[in-house]
Amino acid sequence: MSKQIQAIRGMNDCLPAQSGLWQYLESILRDLVAQYGYQEIRMPIVESTDLFKRSIGEVTDIVEKEMYTFDDRNGDSLTLRPEGTASCVRAGNQHGLLYNQQQRLWYMGPMFRHERPQKGRYRQFHQFGIEVFGLEGPDIDAEIIMLTARLWKKLGLTEHVTLELNSLGSNQARARYKEALVEYLLERQEQLDDDSKKRLHSNPLRVLDSKNPDVQAAISDAPSLLDYLDDESAQHFSALCERLTQLGIQYRVNSRLVRGLDYYNRTVFEWVTDSLGAQGTVCAGGRYDGLVEQLGGKATPGVGFAMGLERLVLMLESLNLTDAVASPVDIYVTALGEPAEQYAMQVAEQLRDELPDFRVMNHCGGGNFKKQMKRADASGADYALLIGEEEVTSGQLTLKYLREDKPQIRVTTAELVALLTK
Ligand code: ATP
Ligand code: MG
Repeated sequence: MSKQIQAIRGMNDCLPAQSGLWQYLESILRDLVAQYGYQEIRMPIVESTDLFKRSIGEVTDIVEKEMYTFDDRNGDSLTLRPEGTASCVRAGNQHGLLYNQQQRLWYMGPMFRHERPQKGRYRQFHQFGIEVFGLEGPDIDAEIIMLTARLWKKLGLTEHVTLELNSLGSNQARARYKEALVEYLLERQEQLDDDSKKRLHSNPLRVLDSKNPDVQAAISDAPSLLDYLDDESAQHFSALCERLTQLGIQYRVNSRLVRGLDYYNRTVFEWVTDSLGAQGTVCAGGRYDGLVEQLGGKATPGVGFAMGLERLVLMLESLNLTDAVASPVDIYVTALGEPAEQYAMQVAEQLRDELPDFRVMNHCGGGNFKKQMKRADASGADYALLIGEEEVTSGQLTLKYLREDKPQIRVTTAELVALLTK
């Protein structure tokens, strides 16, 4: 026997037992953004490597260690997208969607990062994201946070997530802060790991984002970004905080929050949970007012976030919040004998016309009554229809309740439709 080929490590199949939950989550997300008037954008999965280097930043975990980069047959360096914002800005610039306009966009799809696979961290994972262009006030920051808060409510996760908020200020403010941070870190160099020592000079803010507990301890008394904010950013931040309070959205200001990508300024936020172990961030984003220009467009403010769908799926499963996931079958139609099988096919098709919201499955492949009922039960259906010679002759159906303690009844198709639409 030849050896079976396995999937690439960290790249998962979504099997039928899970795809219902994924579809449920995806449809909640689609309905949610529609409620706010956002429009979908779909970008390619592969882009020029330069796009990510120029936006995410050369000295970041993503660009230094995590990208799937390869030369194509023409020798061009391409990269499987590790995130969506850069592609979205690239598309917006390329098609003239951004300058002097307002766009409220969303996307959903696979992203690729060569990380160490573990629970909640994969090499192909899926993000849902939002990007808003052309609006610079704190009101739109509040809107996208409010939208995520509504999502938690719809999914039943409100009690399990908390919002962390920070402001990175302007470029100048960040430059002043960097000086103070470097001075502080130089005094504690021996407590830093190699990555952080290197970043101390190339990109000191990244040190704050380190996941190494020793580094975290070393920076516990580091100067706070919030003490270095420029006036306008400070006002923007306090207006956002005020707006969130008015909206009844609780938050915690975390002056260490910097995010792992270089393009952010002013507002940054994360929704975190403690129900996932180490992989606690379910949604993260912020403002990137300089990115459009940095990627060759005319200066246009932007703000957005991305959430990891695998982490949400894990949360919904571990918290048992999957009741709303539709079962794949509602009505299972059984038939005994050739004439009954033919009749059953017609009945099922008629039910699909008249009960379009019901999922109707025909038993195929014959077999005795017991075997058919076993399949009906395993399908997850609430109802079974039993069709034998008598039903064919009388033009009726026998309805059997699979999940309720009720006697089975004889009905016509019209009576069944009336019963189930009630
Ligand atoms: P982390 O700190 O967990 O590495 P990150 O800062 O790299 O996250 P972002 O680039 O901001 O993450 O991506 C947004 C969201 O996408 C994260 O909050 C997380 O929910 C999800 N995510 C990121 N990387 C992965 C991954 N490798 N596997 C699964 N989900 C991921
Ligand atoms: Mg990461």
